[in-house]
Amino acid sequence: MQPKFDAVYYEPKAMEYELGKRLREKYKSLPWIEIESHNRIPMLSAAEDADFPKLKRHLVLGIRKTHRYAENHKVSDWLVPYTSSGCRAMCMYCYLMCSYNKCSYMRLFVNREEMLERLLRFDARTAKPQTFEIGSNSDLVLENSVTGNLGWTIERFGKKGRGNLTFPTKFDMVQPLLSLNHRGKVIFRMSVNPAEIVSKVELGTSQLRQRIKALNEMAHAGYRVGILIAPVILLSGWKRMYGGLIDELSDELAPEVKQKGFIEIILMTYSFVQDAINTSAFPGAVQIFDRSIMRGRGRGKYCYRSEARAEAESFLRVQISEKLGMPIIYIA
Ligand code: SF4
Repeated sequence: MQPKFDAVYYEPKAMEYELGKRLREKYKSLPWIEIESHNRIPMLSAAEDADFPKLKRHLVLGIRKTHRYAENHKVSDWLVPYTSSGCRAMCMYCYLMCSYNKCSYMRLFVNREEMLERLLRFDARTAKPQTFEIGSNSDLVLENSVTGNLGWTIERFGKKGRGNLTFPTKFDMVQPLLSLNHRGKVIFRMSVNPAEIVSKVELGTSQLRQRIKALNEMAHAGYRVGILIAPVILLSGWKRMYGGLIDELSDELAPEVKQKGFIEIILMTYSFVQDAINTSAFPGAVQIFDRSIMRGRGRGKYCYRSEARAEAESFLRVQISEKLGMPIIYIA
């Protein structure tokens, strides 16, 4: 899947970088619009919420200036701002809408050498090897189909890094990653949801069957792998849907994924911002906000009430233990 764009908004300085020049050539048939900063594009931020799908068709190129790593305590030790933020897909719960509102289109940062060098310097300084999450602001497998940055990073980190890289994805375009010399330093995490939820809620992402195939291929290629069941959405009929998902994983996952992989589970949180955008942009879409089983959590945010959470958690634990036998490292 090659994402399609209708216009490129760019910081002129980005054109001084090798990646900027390559993208200029790749997308030369599109209109190119000069901007002052990828963070401030008044003509796009003034758009209506209903224009969200149109905004998502734009590609934005800039230079990343903030590089602060945040500590993390799940699969990784650090969240690293890396080569992109935002994404071409339109999952209705996407956390990026909370940070960027309707401007969560794909932004690419062309100064990848600088970002990787910082990462390698940080990695060399730590007392013991650390794991770096490089995909917390975008989907790097999707981004890789535009830039090739993920393959470029894996090979270089494989040679010089001490720790590990990790990233989650909802895409199946892993072919360019399979033959890379990753030296066992990459943990690939495939995010899954029942096929019905993928097609109704995770708009523009790869289908479940293709994701499972890609996960198996990555495991065959020697990558360490995990599965993210995320976010769990308690729509009507959720037990049937998630029970079916675990059946499908049990039938289709390769033995090495079942033997060596792990599972993360995250229940959906939702916000006022996401609800406003989804209501305007996708008026006929499935309603993922359910007031009867959700409660407020901080300003404008919602999560499932504790009874609903407990029921989902115990259902998933039993299903996974009976049908998959893979370790669950956390449920959030
Ligand atoms: S694939 Fe990930 S980053 Fe892209 S819209 Fe969906 S949740 Fe957001």
